[in-house]
Amino acid sequence: MKHYFRGGIHPPENKNGTVDLPLTKADPPPFVAISFSQHIGKPATPLVKPGERVLRGQLIAEQSGYVSAAAHASISGAVKGVVQVRHPLGFLVDALKIENDGLDEWDPSVKIERDVDQLPPGEIRKIVQGAGIVGMGGATFPSHVKLSPPPGKKIDTLILNAAECEPYLTADDLLMREYPEEILMGAELFKRAVGARRAIVGIEDNKLRAVTALRDAAGRIGSNIGITVLPVQYPQGAEKQLIYALLRREVPSGGLPMDVGVLVHNVGSAFAGYQACAFGYPLTERIVTVTGPGIRNPANLWVRIGTMAGHLLDICGFDPETTKKLVVGGPMMGLSMRDLEWSVVKGTNGILALDDPAAYSHRACIRCGRCVESCPSGLLPCTLSNYGEFDKLAEAEEYNARDCIECGICSYVCPSKRPIVQWIRMEKAEINRKKQMEVK
Ligand code: SF4
Ligand code: SF4
Repeated sequence: MKHYFRGGIHPPENKNGTVDLPLTKADPPPFVAISFSQHIGKPATPLVKPGERVLRGQLIAEQSGYVSAAAHASISGAVKGVVQVRHPLGFLVDALKIENDGLDEWDPSVKIERDVDQLPPGEIRKIVQGAGIVGMGGATFPSHVKLSPPPGKKIDTLILNAAECEPYLTADDLLMREYPEEILMGAELFKRAVGARRAIVGIEDNKLRAVTALRDAAGRIGSNIGITVLPVQYPQGAEKQLIYALLRREVPSGGLPMDVGVLVHNVGSAFAGYQACAFGYPLTERIVTVTGPGIRNPANLWVRIGTMAGHLLDICGFDPETTKKLVVGGPMMGLSMRDLEWSVVKGTNGILALDDPAAYSHRACIRCGRCVESCPSGLLPCTLSNYGEFDKLAEAEEYNARDCIECGICSYVCPSKRPIVQWIRMEKAEINRKKQMEVK
């Protein structure tokens, strides 16, 4: 079967800065600010008070509703109190500040050993929930919710998303090359949790070392998970596009992968799931790609959750003179940050220091149609962005704005440099906010 999806583009990959570098560990920072809003859903509720000593892996904030996720201390030290940090979407959110005592002492609840072969589905979901695992490709949807499809929604296929189609980012590539067995064992656990009959890894053909590592690991552990190599195409990592490319199943407008019998998890989430199930590790660190023309020492680093962006950029030799735009995530779907007052969250897969001043100016639409031709969701981006710009929400909804996957292709191909995806993102947020108000 030929693997493809409608639309899509081939932006310059720009992965060379980090793809051949070894994975390294960033030293734990002097303090962390762990956000209570690191996931889609309700913020977590703090459980500790200023002056208390906490240990690494200790639960510091519990989930506060079904769609929510717990948070754990990523260092040992003294709780200083609640501070405000910037959320990747730009607004300020509450976070718990912990001052590092330099001991990096683990909470006794962590570092246990379990026989994962015997874990029943309900127990897997419970452990994933307790470990605060979310979609680590950037989506940050709580993983335990995804692993609990409603009755009547039968999942037959688990897809492990290893596309990492965004330019510059190589965090997942390094994770797969260094921890292939753990990822596959995590996938086996997720597959069991939802009763799927098969699992497939979808990976692009620019990551052949990771393909080899995964295939070798599958042989070693006797796993029959399929490793399917896909041609490079952006946005292959978007759920709907990946499902179509691998299985030719089309998720309906407004629908979810479970509507076509599929569950998609990022490779980082599968790795975290295995670490939690096998050893009791909650999610306290992740790999972040730090790169771009404004970074003197690009790297893929294990970074403690809650590390401030400024600290991480300093480690990597940040050059503010060269940098014109700081982006969290990839250049296509990531968000530009106006300052450094934000901390690494569970979904932070990259920090880019870019030097492209063109991103700041845009001109009128010339009706060239390039955005329409390229949109992988079959939308009319130029029209939708006009509705967003002029606050015409009803019309935007009628034109299926909510089906936009925010891939950023329309902005990328637009010769007038119009920030189309930003306008659509805003109108989607406003439509969703109004819908939530109607429910209350
Ligand atoms: S309208 Fe949405 S889905 Fe279509 S190209 Fe733009 S960002 Fe991507
Ligand atoms: S690509 Fe830009 S200029 Fe061309 S139709 Fe779309 S919005 Fe207009």
